[in-house]
Amino acid sequence: MKITFLGTGVAIPQKGRVQSGLLMEIDEKKVLFDCGGGVLNRIFESGNSHTDINTIVLSHLHLDHVADVMCLLKANWLCDKFDSTIYGPSGTREWLDRLMDIYPYMKEKVSVDVVEVAPEEEFRLIDVCDVKCAAGIHSVPSLAYQVRSEDKTVVYSGDTEPCDDIMALAQGCDMLIHECSFPLEFEMTNHTTPDMLRPYIRNSGIRAVYLTHLYPHMQGYEEEALEYLKEEFEGEVHIPSDLMVVEI
Ligand SMILES: [Zn+2]
Ligand SMILES: [Zn+2]
Repeated sequence: MKITFLGTGVAIPQKGRVQSGLLMEIDEKKVLFDCGGGVLNRIFESGNSHTDINTIVLSHLHLDHVADVMCLLKANWLCDKFDSTIYGPSGTREWLDRLMDIYPYMKEKVSVDVVEVAPEEEFRLIDVCDVKCAAGIHSVPSLAYQVRSEDKTVVYSGDTEPCDDIMALAQGCDMLIHECSFPLEFEMTNHTTPDMLRPYIRNSGIRAVYLTHLYPHMQGYEEEALEYLKEEFEGEVHIPSDLMVVEI
């Protein structure tokens, strides 16, 4: 399984990090998890072709996770790729329908199959992996996804506070990609700080944690976050930059 961190940033712009996006390649098939602003260009910069991406899985509908979805659909249409499937939480179908109503020329040209999924639901994705959903704790409905291929398991948290349901999916996994929006002891709800996350990954059997969805507030506090988490976590902890590739 190959994971490319396309965008590790958030809604507030910052140098080097565009909004949320993550490409998973399993048996040479590609799935895009979230597609915030800047991700379409990162797909190009990563050496991938957007025309190879017709399956998108959305954690939730906040703009920093969906802003480039229509841009990706249009780029594919311009290259004669018309069909896509978008998975997402409740509300995804209405969200896309309303956008298509605003852009009737898109509605005529592209064909998008929307699959709404719910917490605890399991589904088979592009015939190469099994996915299980869990509800996040966020200001809007948000899903985390556990992706299981033949022998590897990756969990992507989406936007959330650390919580039992997501950590149940992550127990013993090869890779947990968890948001860490703000630095240590930052007062916050609906997102994650290192001190909120640490008790959940202690004794979890997770092999490696990758912190993503970093607000500009995290700049200069990356090492502090890594050191703090490593104090009580046996596995690896990383803060990926945009375009970092990890193979597991
Ligand atoms: Zn959000
Ligand atoms: Zn976000």
